[in-house]
Amino acid sequence: MDFLQGRRAAHFGDRAEFERLRGVGEAIRQYSLARLPELLEQLESSLTAAGVHVHWARTPDEANALFLAIARKHGGTRMVKGKSMVSEEIELNHAMAAQGVNCLETDMGEYIVQLAGERPSHIIMPAIHKTKQQIGKLFQEHIDGVPYTDDVDTLVATGRRVLRDEFRDAKIGVSGVNFMVAETGTLVLVENEGNGRMCTTVPDVHIAITGIEKVVEKLEHVLPLFSLLTRSATGQAVSTYLNLITGPRRPGELDGPREVHLVLLDNGRTQAFRDTAFRPTLQCIRCGACMNHCPVYARIGGLAYGTTYPGPIGAIISPHLLGLEATKDLPTASSLCGACVEVCPVGIPITELLLQLRRAAKHEADPGQAPLVGQATAMDWKEAWAWRSWAWLNERPRLYLLAVALGRRMRAFTPPWQGGWTRHRSPLRLARRGLRDRLRDSTGP
Ligand code: SF4
Repeated sequence: MDFLQGRRAAHFGDRAEFERLRGVGEAIRQYSLARLPELLEQLESSLTAAGVHVHWARTPDEANALFLAIARKHGGTRMVKGKSMVSEEIELNHAMAAQGVNCLETDMGEYIVQLAGERPSHIIMPAIHKTKQQIGKLFQEHIDGVPYTDDVDTLVATGRRVLRDEFRDAKIGVSGVNFMVAETGTLVLVENEGNGRMCTTVPDVHIAITGIEKVVEKLEHVLPLFSLLTRSATGQAVSTYLNLITGPRRPGELDGPREVHLVLLDNGRTQAFRDTAFRPTLQCIRCGACMNHCPVYARIGGLAYGTTYPGPIGAIISPHLLGLEATKDLPTASSLCGACVEVCPVGIPITELLLQLRRAAKHEADPGQAPLVGQATAMDWKEAWAWRSWAWLNERPRLYLLAVALGRRMRAFTPPWQGGWTRHRSPLRLARRGLRDRLRDSTGP
């Protein structure tokens, strides 16, 4: 995390310049979301005109069914997949494996976690929790004829050799999408390893999947977001590859897929869109900077969150994807220190959203407002009663001081198994000395 923070900081040394660029990024995302329904319609027309098949999926099951139908149509039993967090969200690999279709990860980090049978622990660097020694052992165990080594260059060369053959043999390539351009029907894919380009050009069929919120109106809107994304994510001025995909192979062209599909997934995003208080959640460009700077994420790692998206972005998006009942603890896994807000390149008020989600988990929706899925699921009448009593007591200084004095006397009755905290502490000296003085102060001369 220190390394990633340092790389990002090197690109944003000038705070004023960062704020200016961030303002542009935030404005583009807010503008795009404000026009989301019409931009999606425009996108569908542009893509269809360019020869791309557009599919809409409300749920992960619907999305997986679409993938399966396309695989069956082409007799494909092997898919190669570039990095896509939305495909993680729908658990594409497992869904395809259950139907006899092998979906192989080709991003090096994703390949490693797939071999280990784990989920990514970071949205940009999926295997950041693994050491090179662990990866050396994984390769030795899972790839025929590969001896143990912890030499990173050798490990990368091994992965590259294995994956090359897979690209050649697969009928279907799968990828995510970073941005979609409504006006031109362009799918923008940002990557560093070249595997994304292989997945989207070598197999006969390319299926892209992404969330509905990734659309922008014009190609010129992509450039500031691209600049913010690469600098915030990996501290690069530009990524190694920037793929702009506009339709399948055209007559006379020598390469590219013969068929291109786009699966647009909702999976709770319309809930966040509908409520303007939660809409900024969808501004996210998945750079991962909030995770790299989060003290909680840095200590517990991504797997501890138990959701596809870990860290601060996971805590604000997962309740919409999975419902508040399953995720009510996530918004509380934050110290609200605001480090994530400071670095977010599109100005998402993450701490405010966390507080709103905490409130939604404990309270019914306001009159006239549609409830979130799982709203008030963490409501606890005992806790509500305790806080109301606390507020009531704090508004009455005499009673409050009396209660504090009584509480101190009652410490002697604390059961031994609960007394660990109080055993090693002495009463506040102020309270010991000053009950009468403080009562006098609070009631005036
Ligand atoms: S919330 Fe902001 S910092 Fe975090 S991944 Fe999204 S864009 Fe990046």
